[in-house]
This record gives sequence, C-alpha cells and structure tokens, in this order.
Amino acid sequence: MSCLFSDGSKWQSGCGMFARFGPRIVSVITSDIRSGVEQLGDMIAAASVIVPFTGAGISTECGIPDFRSPGGLWSRHRPIPFDEFVASAEAREEAWRRRFAMEPTFAAAKPGRGHRALASLYKVGKIPAVVTQNIDNLHQLSGFAEDHVVELHGNTTYARCIGCSQAYDLKWVRECFDASGCAPDCTICAEPVKTATISFGQAMPDEAMRRATDLAQQCDLFIAIGSSLVVWPAAGFPMLAKNSGARLVIINNEPTEQDDIADLVIRHDIGETLGPFVGN
Ligand SMILES: [Zn+2]
Repeated sequence: MSCLFSDGSKWQSGCGMFARFGPRIVSVITSDIRSGVEQLGDMIAAASVIVPFTGAGISTECGIPDFRSPGGLWSRHRPIPFDEFVASAEAREEAWRRRFAMEPTFAAAKPGRGHRALASLYKVGKIPAVVTQNIDNLHQLSGFAEDHVVELHGNTTYARCIGCSQAYDLKWVRECFDASGCAPDCTICAEPVKTATISFGQAMPDEAMRRATDLAQQCDLFIAIGSSLVVWPAAGFPMLAKNSGARLVIINNEPTEQDDIADLVIRHDIGETLGPFVGN
C-alpha cells in the first residue's frame, strides 16, 4: 500500500496524523492499514451524509472479473456496440451467447466485505444511496433497497426491451434462445431484448445521472471505491462532490485520475480496508 499526500508525495512516517498543505488540511495515511482504517473511521464518524461510488474493484473478491483489466473479457472479445446490437441479429445472438457463458460467474457471486461494509452504513442511516458503475447486482444483494442503488451502467442480471423497456427474466431469454436458436424480441413491441446494461454507444441513463449528480452535491463525504475514475462520467463525480464541499476519499489498488484532489487516498485491497466496517 502506498499513502499519498494530495500533492502526490509519499508519506513515510510511522503514525497516522494530519498535515497542513496550503490552505486546507490534507489527511494522509501511513503505510500500515490500521492507521488508514482509523482515519477513514474518523471521517465516517464525522460525516452526516456519505455517498459511496463503486467500480469493478469492489467486486473482484466476489469473483466478478474486471472486464477492462489486461486479460479481462474485453481484451479477449471486442465489446459489441449498441448500434451493432440493434442492426444485426448475429450480433444479438453473439451478445447473448457471451452473457450465458458468464452466467455461472454472476449467479455464484455473493457480496464481498466492501459491499457488506457499505450496507452496514446504509442500515444505520449514514448512506442514503450508493452510486455504482457495476452491473452485478451485488449492492442489492448486500441489503440496499433497489431504489437506493443508482446504476450508471445498468444491470446484467435481467433484460429489457430496447423499445418499450419491458423487463424480462434472463431465464425467459435463455428458454427462447434455446428453443429457436435466435435472440428473442419483445412480446409487446417486437423490438430486441437486451441485458439491462448500458452498452458502448448507448446513451447514459438520464435518471441515474441526475440522481448521482444530486447525491454528489448533497453529501459531506464522498468515497470512490475500486474505480480507476477514467471512464466518463465516473471521473466527474468525485470532483463534483469535492467542489460542492464534501471531503473525498479514494480507495483503489492502483493510482486514479483524481488522487490529486482527494483528502485521503488508500491504495490497498478494498475488502481489507472496508472489512473493519462490516457490522458497524
Ligand atoms: Zn418492447
């Protein structure tokens, strides 16, 4: 783990403390996880409204691969863009074959320590909702109400008609596909049915974007977890929260694009960092 000042320099001392750089106080963490957890705990205790923003890194310990990582799914299979899915029956069939191949992975995944820690803080009223880039449904499984999971990239555990938005179970899609050999169309409007995710080239969901913007502006602690913060709109939310007066914590194994504006950067395993907050 490395611990960074917000100017990018490393902290080498042996105990947790605060240092003043320029006009604002910058929290730093030391190289041992315990003091990092302590500082995070202090910030959580001091906060009234905490908004977590999660990316792939929170789900890797649950067996969900990071599609964008080297060797990940997207480096082996070119993602199918939305317009191609709409235009081509072959593309739709290929998209569904890939999704069915992933089903054992998604079906077996259980919430990890990061999910459970956030669910604990949600239960005691510290977290009004979680904003996520993930499509794996694990925040819902950890105890968040569906209404309190703001999904920027949708959800892969069910399907929707791209025309009328009718929801479908994956089981129904699978049965249709197996019976006909073709990707099924909507039984109401005959438009294609697709996983309820946002594909490349597909518009971001307006309602989710609006809610994420409101949450970032209204919180006093914003915690970005397991996201490299390079994919738009992810990169915009930590900065928006910070500019709206919130303190910003970034927990990620790798450096992120927003580390230089964070009050606390923890480059460490997410499960180990958030594990102590499970059940609090
Ligand atoms: Zn439809």
